[in-house]
Amino acid sequence: IRFNNHEHSRKIKAWVQDNRTYANLGKCANYIPALERANPSQLGICIIGSNGSMVKMGDFDTAFTLQSISKVIGFIAACIDYGISYVLERVDVEPTGDAFNSIIRLEVHKPGRPFNPMINAGAITVASLLGGRNPVEKVESILLLIERIVGRYPTINEEVFHSEWQTAHRNRALAYYLKEMGFLDCTVEEALEVYLKQCSIEVTTEDVAMIGLVLANDGYHPIRKEQIFSKEVARLTKALMVTCGMYNASGKFAAFVGIPAKSGVSGGILAAIPPRGRSGDSPFMDGCGIGIYGPAIDEFGNSVAGVMLLKQISREWDFNIF
Ligand code: GLN
Repeated sequence: IRFNNHEHSRKIKAWVQDNRTYANLGKCANYIPALERANPSQLGICIIGSNGSMVKMGDFDTAFTLQSISKVIGFIAACIDYGISYVLERVDVEPTGDAFNSIIRLEVHKPGRPFNPMINAGAITVASLLGGRNPVEKVESILLLIERIVGRYPTINEEVFHSEWQTAHRNRALAYYLKEMGFLDCTVEEALEVYLKQCSIEVTTEDVAMIGLVLANDGYHPIRKEQIFSKEVARLTKALMVTCGMYNASGKFAAFVGIPAKSGVSGGILAAIPPRGRSGDSPFMDGCGIGIYGPAIDEFGNSVAGVMLLKQISREWDFNIF
């Protein structure tokens, strides 16, 4: 990896400064007590290009928990372990337009298969079928996949995990319903342990950017020079990110930003920018991964300043995939 100190670093610096002011329009998630203590005015970004160039700006070094971004990794891990068709027997690939933790459609969509793996019902189902005989081994399959991508075995933030565990009433309700419908491969408590631990994995914007980079390159890791997962899994995952990755703001995000992305309530955003044939003066023609952290989130659960920053970058550098 080489650091870039050119023209575009100066541009990103200015964009981070400008968009940081939007943080005022959001608030840190407060339903998980440990997340409420984040500094709402932070905004940081890391971009890693397929050619190994890297730009980091703002509060790029703050550690944060993956939260819903882990749904992407869990889905990929399950597809690696069991194959796409097995996973899709348990979870569909349709957006809902409802909140991430919504319970309402489970019964509507006969025979109860969760709509997609990017909402809680789908992610809890996927967590339950991960490879491993117990919750520790199932979480391990996610941790090991992250290690293969970022080159470091990540830790779980135990405080966030316990905080979530004690307040996961709605997730428990979802899991009990899923269990009753026969979608879970383990007990309710085991599925919740896996799901909430994967949400509590601690990362920085660089880790997230590296995951985005591999997705941008269809599962190939251009820095480690290794195919981590198949092109089919990468494409399916990016399609899910475009249609369902930004919760029930995914439509607007696709329309006005146009980048496969996944957000989490801690304020993280994972984005994958595929190689572009023609990209104005973008320094990332060969594709890149982006990790953003901005803990002040909007009513949907997306980082307010983070979305605005991505929107500006997409516009300036012609990153819109459509
Ligand atoms: N742990 C969180 C939950 O299930 C993750 C949600 C999110 O990031 N949207 O409530």
